[in-house]
Amino acid sequence: GGREVSKRIVVIGAGPGGYVAALKAAKLGAQVTVVEKDKVGGTCLNRGCIPTKALLASAEVLTAIKEAEEYGIRVEGKITPDMGLIIARKNKVVERLNKGIEFLFEKNNVRLVKGKGTLVGNKAVKVELEEGGCETLEADNIIIATGSSPAKIPVFPFDGKRVLTSDEILDLDYVPSSIIIVGAGVIGCEFGTFFSAVGSAVTMVEMMERVLPTEDSDLGKEMEKVLKRKKIKLHLKSRIEKVEIKENGVKAVLDSGKELEAEIMLVATGRRAEINDLGLETVGVKTDKGRIIVDDRMETSVKGIYAIGDIVPGLQLAHVASFEGICAAENIMGIESRMDYSAVPRGIFTDPEVGAVGMTEEEALNAGFRIRTGRFYFRGLGRAQAAGKIIGFAKIIAEEGTDKILGASIIGPNATDLVHEIVPAIKCAITVKDMSKLIHSHPTFSEAVMEALHDVHGQSIHNA
Ligand code: FAD
Repeated sequence: GGREVSKRIVVIGAGPGGYVAALKAAKLGAQVTVVEKDKVGGTCLNRGCIPTKALLASAEVLTAIKEAEEYGIRVEGKITPDMGLIIARKNKVVERLNKGIEFLFEKNNVRLVKGKGTLVGNKAVKVELEEGGCETLEADNIIIATGSSPAKIPVFPFDGKRVLTSDEILDLDYVPSSIIIVGAGVIGCEFGTFFSAVGSAVTMVEMMERVLPTEDSDLGKEMEKVLKRKKIKLHLKSRIEKVEIKENGVKAVLDSGKELEAEIMLVATGRRAEINDLGLETVGVKTDKGRIIVDDRMETSVKGIYAIGDIVPGLQLAHVASFEGICAAENIMGIESRMDYSAVPRGIFTDPEVGAVGMTEEEALNAGFRIRTGRFYFRGLGRAQAAGKIIGFAKIIAEEGTDKILGASIIGPNATDLVHEIVPAIKCAITVKDMSKLIHSHPTFSEAVMEALHDVHGQSIHNA
């Protein structure tokens, strides 16, 4: 009566895709090995979601102190952000979470092999070990989760000192007097908010005609106002043609001929999937436009090999990577599971925040839906007035007739959390009318979502 031999799974990459896939597979009874060439936690923990939010938390404290008088608090003396200490705090947060993942691996008997992994067959991964030498790991299944890195466009002379990627700027130990941020997407806007809060003169350059170009255009316009109020200079519909590193700064020339100068430049123009030198060709894993092709079970063109996270098509977000990891692990372990991307929340941690899910108004119209929209401005809420956080709105997009919710775009206090109210509505096809019957606690910011839902049928109580 022999026990069933458990499945051997090798996961390449320990970001939010890979480490979550590993833990899920282990919980389902697999024998899991994770190969990681750097630190566990990947981009998200070491160079992405978490370090940026740690910096933004410091900025939030500083802003609160600067605005203290408005709240009747007298603050005396000089208030200075100390970047050395801000970075040290950020590093401590990251380290604590690094240890947390390693601890979870131990607890779940997940083996961590430090080194660079390459596919050498559809059931084998060769690792160039960090400590020297090589090890070949045999597996029944392989999950590729190697993530992404900043795209390095040739026009920018990256030197890590004057012209930086998001990787390097997270360790900047001084407040630059001025900074040019290239790209007004999520990463550009978050860093723009941060540097303006700590006192840098910020200039943002964006090729498209508005900031956050993939989000709802009303939301983008509101964010533009927010950035301008922070005295951030915006150059929209502008392309950088030339960049020159000078003795004590950097000079950029726009396509309009306009010249910009600053102490440093951050290039936040997108990320490239890490799929080179992985041996994909050797085993026949198909790619398209720089990403690995997968089905909705996260399996690649090679049976038994799965791919998840930033290396597959779609939104490059940590929670998407994690859910794809769970999906892959389940399918490998015999639990049928398919990805559904209809209700993925998107968070932007600017001040104020952005939370969005489902379609933007433009996407709904382009898809041919007849729509109704509802909107409510935070300034109409008692809670927002009491807290002194009155900027922004919640907007709901619904389908005329079926009354189904197609999307929500929120800009304002706690928006990254508030959006989760609409996630189940989209996922489970709850109508606006049914959602409108949910009693919301008073006074809370989420009343803005309730009022926006009521506004879809012109029934908002507090809309002017
Ligand atoms: P990654 O996190 O990139 O992890 C891949 C891992 O694989 C890395 O550790 C790498 O070292 C390892 N690896 C690569 N190749 C090999 C190899 N051959 N052998 C062994 N190991 C290898 N997303 C959000 O959802 N919310 C946010 O607030 C957010 N903020 C961000 C802020 C910034 C500045 C950046 C850059 C990104 C942010 N993201 C955010 C995106 C998020 O970080 C990514 O979507 C997420 O990390 C992708 O996870 P992943 O597991 O696919 O890959």
